[in-house]
Amino acid sequence: MIVSGKPPGSLENEAPPYADLEREWHVLAARDGLSLATVRCADCERSLLLADIAAPEKPVVAIAAGVHGDEPAASWALLSIVRDGLLDPSFAYRIWPCTNPSGYALGTRANAEGFDVNRSFGGDGTTPEARAIVAANRGCRFALTIDLHEDYEAHGFYCYEPLIGGEAPLGRAVVDAVAGAAFPIQELDDAFELGYPVEAHHVRRLEHGRVLPTPDAEIAFSAALPYSMYLLKNGLAKRSLTLESPRRLAWDDRIAIHRVAVVNALVQLSDVM
Ligand SMILES: [Zn+2]
Repeated sequence: MIVSGKPPGSLENEAPPYADLEREWHVLAARDGLSLATVRCADCERSLLLADIAAPEKPVVAIAAGVHGDEPAASWALLSIVRDGLLDPSFAYRIWPCTNPSGYALGTRANAEGFDVNRSFGGDGTTPEARAIVAANRGCRFALTIDLHEDYEAHGFYCYEPLIGGEAPLGRAVVDAVAGAAFPIQELDDAFELGYPVEAHHVRRLEHGRVLPTPDAEIAFSAALPYSMYLLKNGLAKRSLTLESPRRLAWDDRIAIHRVAVVNALVQLSDVM
């Protein structure tokens, strides 16, 4: 594991201020090929960063982080992935660096109004953040969407990969790559809290380090759609990976886990396309 000055198991909010994240993205935007926009949320004094790495003819991968404001290392991992040139240049990218900036600033899972943005993607969106993202993504088509999270209960990495046409060809190798980098993998069973009520256990299958939801069943179960399910339901994304680093690990380890996972997800995507 990467040596860090912060002790493992630390759950204090060690995140730099949101203004620092914004500033770092503006520094990156000066580089060729990355266009940075500020997407205003209607009805509130809030805006979202949106970075596009455009490449006509190439399949587009969407990557988002920070929909839960108390999972800050996900947003900084995404920044580091782009800054260090880890994105496979055979794809174009649409990047949402932090989709819940008010929650980030408060250190809360929910946004400033107390709503879980990742349960607000039904219809045209039921939070200002979701409405802004749905409007900006209209007409987009993604070969894959990747959503970066952190989990407070987990001791190891795990991911969600919805079954599309009965297949989930990406996540197994991602889990193996994270394990290969000497990070722990989460054992998943019915006792592990995944946010599904007991009566919804039929909408997902569990493996070592991977949750395999059936999108139609999950979408039918609740109208309060997560970001990834809105993209799948509306045909905007062909496949989806949601990555979860264990919040109890040190900051640098959580960032390193996301870097390994995203890089290997793109390797797998290249193989199946
Ligand atoms: Zn989360």
